[in-house]
Amino acid sequence: MNNYLSDKQLIEVCPVCGSPNIDYEVGGYIGKVYHCKNCNYTGALVIEAEKEMIDAIKEDFEKKE
Ligand SMILES: [Zn+2]
Repeated sequence: MNNYLSDKQLIEVCPVCGSPNIDYEVGGYIGKVYHCKNCNYTGALVIEAEKEMIDAIKEDFEKKE
């Protein structure tokens, strides 16, 4: 058995800015609504990504700023 490297671990992050700093609220007709505390994204979708992917999203986001 291999040890999991933290770099390869999938974590849920905001699809807009790549921040793992997300909250979710349950309720309403669509069920779960995620709220990113970093960029104020609100929506039903988050992505599962590994560190490399997250870094790419963050880089992209910073370019748009
Ligand atoms: Zn965000």
